[in-house]
Amino acid sequence: MDLIDVQEIRVPSARSEIVIGSSEKILAGGTWLFSVPETGLTGLVDITRLGWAPVTRTASALVIAATCTVAELSRLTPPALRTDPVRAGSGYESHTDPYALFWHCANSFLASYKIWNIATVGGNIALALPAGPMISLAASLDAEAVIWMPSGGERRMPVADLVTGVMRTALEPREVLREIVIPFASLDSRTGFRRIALNDLGRTGTLVIARVAPTGETVFTVTGGTSHPVQLRFDGMPSAPELQERVLAIDCWYDDAHGSSDWRRAMSVRFAEQLRLELA
Ligand SMILES: Cc1cc2nc3c(=O)[nH]c(=O)nc-3n(C[C@H](O)[C@H](O)[C@H](O)COP(=O)(O)OP(=O)(O)OC[C@H]3O[C@@H](n4cnc5c(N)ncnc54)[C@H](O)[C@@H]3O)c2cc1C
Repeated sequence: MDLIDVQEIRVPSARSEIVIGSSEKILAGGTWLFSVPETGLTGLVDITRLGWAPVTRTASALVIAATCTVAELSRLTPPALRTDPVRAGSGYESHTDPYALFWHCANSFLASYKIWNIATVGGNIALALPAGPMISLAASLDAEAVIWMPSGGERRMPVADLVTGVMRTALEPREVLREIVIPFASLDSRTGFRRIALNDLGRTGTLVIARVAPTGETVFTVTGGTSHPVQLRFDGMPSAPELQERVLAIDCWYDDAHGSSDWRRAMSVRFAEQLRLELA
């Protein structure tokens, strides 16, 4: 750990105790925070002892606490739907049950045992890496982020809009992502999943999730290959040229050591068409 200026780690047990100074950060799983040096960071506020239940249900939604770990989230997928992790370049047909997405997305980390068991859903979203699979999951299911404001109130916005760029979000300083709310209506959809990386255990190159709602509305969510989530919405299933045109019109393809932008774009076009055929 190269956080050489940290003087204090506070562990609040109630919301009233969450006070984040201007040179302090929220600590969740710490799998990112403790992996990079950061000078000038003087304190950490550990939100993992607030006792938030990882998963709860309301009359209309599944609610995932920000502190829910990837391992806890993965258990939302019934065992029968837990197929092998998607490997790079392998032929793959996803299960159309949306509950399979929790498993697929949990397996989309360039993950170790530590990441799987300690990294949190909220930490992944707040970090806003393009390859953030919790962003892919939440955006594709039209999840809403519940954000605690330092003033004491809360505000809400779609996770798809919360992540605005590479390590950029709409979170204001000292705001806390409390939970994400997944409407049961999204979980009544049929879904499909495709992901690729440059090697078997590699970081996501692109990840495309398609979702067909009972109303017929069809949403393709592209993440991983783009610098922020992109949702393509259609009233019904689009034609192949219509879908291809919309994917090619995306203007925020990401480019780094884990994949060039033209490869990410080409694979996203291909995956979107595969999913269109799978769900048609
Ligand atoms: C080997 C390895 C592989 C990795 N692979 C991937 C990968 O494939 N994809 C990927 O996206 N990431 C990856 N990561 C990065 C990181 O581990 C994950 O993004 C992880 O999900 C971060 O969650 P965390 O709970 O550990 O966050 P932390 O490290 O605790 O925090 C991350 C950031 O989010 C902020 N934060 C945390 N929780 C909240 C909250 N509730 N509200 C507001 N801000 C908050 C923190 O202040 C910090 O800035 C990897 C890291 C390692 C070491």
